[in-house]
Amino acid sequence: MAKPTIVAIDDEIEFIDMLQNYFAPRGYDIEVAVRGAKGIEIVKEKKPDVVLMDLKMPGIDGDEVLRLLKSMEPSPKVIFVTAYDDGGKTKARLLRMGAYAYFDKPIASLKELEEAINKAAKG
Ligand SMILES: [Mg+2]
Repeated sequence: MAKPTIVAIDDEIEFIDMLQNYFAPRGYDIEVAVRGAKGIEIVKEKKPDVVLMDLKMPGIDGDEVLRLLKSMEPSPKVIFVTAYDDGGKTKARLLRMGAYAYFDKPIASLKELEEAINKAAKG
């Protein structure tokens, strides 16, 4: 079975590079964007299984990008990866809004993120 297609949206270039360096050699089709608006464009074109997304970005932030992605057909699964922490309030809100999962940055285990991506793509 083909591996899930991924679009990663994050304004931190080092983080985006790390994701690409992990997933691309493992056979995943991954495209990246450093701004929400560009990310949405790529998602419309590519129709990925999963979107990995930062929360705090200049321009359109992750919250708003999630809203737009949820209104798309087909709608990709969205996994947040963010350092933002307000005691779980935002996490709970994003999950209620339809985010598939939420990971803290820095990522403790890329393997765990990979497993979540594969699970999300199946469901
Ligand atoms: Mg950010």
